[in-house]
Amino acid sequence: MTREQTIRAAVSCSGVGLHSGAPVNLRILSAPTGTGIVFRRTDLDGFRIEASGRNVARVSYATSLMKKGVLISTTEHLLSAFIGMGIDNAIVELDNLELPILDGSARPFVEMIQKAGIRQQRKARTYLRIVREIELREGDKFIAVYPADVYSVSYSINFPHPLIGKQSFGVHLTNGSYLKQIAPARTFGFLHEADAMRQQGLIRGASMENAIVLNRQEVLNPPLRFADEFVRHKVLDLIGDLALIGKQILGTVVADRAGHAMHTALVSLILRDKSYWEETTLEDASHAPALAAAASLTI
Ligand SMILES: [Zn+2]
Repeated sequence: MTREQTIRAAVSCSGVGLHSGAPVNLRILSAPTGTGIVFRRTDLDGFRIEASGRNVARVSYATSLMKKGVLISTTEHLLSAFIGMGIDNAIVELDNLELPILDGSARPFVEMIQKAGIRQQRKARTYLRIVREIELREGDKFIAVYPADVYSVSYSINFPHPLIGKQSFGVHLTNGSYLKQIAPARTFGFLHEADAMRQQGLIRGASMENAIVLNRQEVLNPPLRFADEFVRHKVLDLIGDLALIGKQILGTVVADRAGHAMHTALVSLILRDKSYWEETTLEDASHAPALAAAASLTI
């Protein structure tokens, strides 16, 4: 039987928020079964915001959660790491409004989880098994999820840039690919859009150290970690946004030129309409998303 998991010991890091530029300290702590992922604003008396689709707020260039006017921004990379590592329960403390961007990928979060170690808990993990297809379309943007026995995610993008163009990438969350294929993929941005974005209060913490920066022809801070790092980062983001469902998914997710708004629209639809899914446990541990066992052995 696949069981819920948390981390063994508290781990922490510091950095700046990608959009706010605000300095932030973050600490991840273990949590009992049934907790899910819960954020706590230690600068606001430990105010709690559950990582759930019902708390999704503003969504444009990053996914933000809001509850009673309290904001927690850019949650997707850490939540992606939790799914990739098979962590069901954790408390995430932060002392500012945005998670640290670190190197722009999920790798530093994965390394923190590896450093903390993973602890299996007594309760059987409940999965959300998709039983009927869902397809959302918005112009040329598309996102869908289809019934399947394992969780897989594939993404296609098409950017009018000589280094990006059309890229597609898919990953099975069950076979350990996340750690090597997805976690290291960094966020990216275009220099010619930077001023306009700053004027909207975005990317104030962006630098050559925490994002792939491109001008109209080339990458200004090479090397890329993968030739198709851009689409791999979209997979990373999508996994992080779908974590707001609050359960590991059994289904095939397909996205084409979607973005945070469509990812979270899918989350809302799934949470709203229970006819699309059923809850199930898994007898066979080989289906367990991620490689928790392998991860704790490689520390
Ligand atoms: Zn991202």
